[in-house]
Amino acid sequence: MLPYGRQSVSEEDIQAVVEVLRGDWLTTGPTVAEFERRIGEMAGGHRAVSATSGTAALHMAYAALGVGPGDEVISTPMTFVATTAMASILGAKIVFADVEEDTALLDPAAAAALVGDRTKVIAAVDYAGHPADYDALQALADTVGAVTLDDAAHSIGGTYRGRPVGDLADVTTFSFFPTKNLTTGEGGAVVAKNASVAQRAHEFHFIGLVRDADRFRIQDEGAWHQEVHEFGVNYRLTDVASALGVAQLKRLESFKLRRAQIVARYNAALDSLEAVRTPVQREDVDPVWHLYPLRVLDGRRRHVFEHMRNAGIGVQVNYMPVYWHPVYADAGYKRGMCPNAEAFYGEELSLPLFPDLSDVQVDQVIDTLAEALR
Ligand SMILES: *Cc1c(COP(=O)(O)O)cnc(C)c1O
Repeated sequence: MLPYGRQSVSEEDIQAVVEVLRGDWLTTGPTVAEFERRIGEMAGGHRAVSATSGTAALHMAYAALGVGPGDEVISTPMTFVATTAMASILGAKIVFADVEEDTALLDPAAAAALVGDRTKVIAAVDYAGHPADYDALQALADTVGAVTLDDAAHSIGGTYRGRPVGDLADVTTFSFFPTKNLTTGEGGAVVAKNASVAQRAHEFHFIGLVRDADRFRIQDEGAWHQEVHEFGVNYRLTDVASALGVAQLKRLESFKLRRAQIVARYNAALDSLEAVRTPVQREDVDPVWHLYPLRVLDGRRRHVFEHMRNAGIGVQVNYMPVYWHPVYADAGYKRGMCPNAEAFYGEELSLPLFPDLSDVQVDQVIDTLAEALR
């Protein structure tokens, strides 16, 4: 089966990992620090804290923002469940705002109708690798003293109005799962513009340990002393995984380029077909295409999905609206709430897209799709 996404691991990537395995530090060492420095550099110069997954990064981000019971988080239903689940798990109430009809990105106008005194975070997702409209979302958040969060699991390396992903929202989270734009196996990171939010994310992922003597509340212990002010978890990324991340970051530009070439090849073949809609790109955005979200019209998505899967093409559907998950339905969230997201879900089909996909394979996907539509 041709997968819809797949990692690209080079000999140099492997060598970088092997080198760390021969060294002194498997975790909490200099390669973690180097990876965080490089992520921070490409994310607008803000501090990055690495994590064991994108889900962990979201948990850290919401915890660092102090999200809890009584708070509302406005977010998009067109995402992987972790975007909102990590705020729900902290006791916040999720308020789902609908997406734009064409991009499937959080619609600032829909969010504007839902903000209020309780709004703590507006959490957008750069669906498919295309950044959301952060200038509009930030302006909206500012009106009620909320913060913006960019779940950038799809979009590391992209830009919006000339600014890099990581510099678009108050807090940004990344995922380095193998299908994403770069990988550390499992992995993720939080980037925060506010230094104390970044430090709180760091401490939360490091068991809550405080190691800054200026902040100690217990005085006159020895040089071994460290103390806990708030409970934390252990979401530390290892040096082994970070070595892969540092090596992969050097290849991100070439990954982005190859992904764009494949998207252009799909678009050229599919733009003129009546039976489908190809993905939309805003003029002020330079995306890193993580997904190729085709829309199959006339109620034929399921048929096309099954035909292509049977032909060995690993198409995927991203995503069922988050509030359809039983965990949200049980909490009272009703279908029909976000019609654009539901309509998009009804038509969406992700075609295979990853850097090592060859032109011959892309053409195979296109031919099989044409066959399915006949
Ligand atoms: C993959 C993904 C996550 C979670 O990342 P993991 O590393 O798999 O935990 C969160 N949000 C979005 C939009 C994702 O695609």
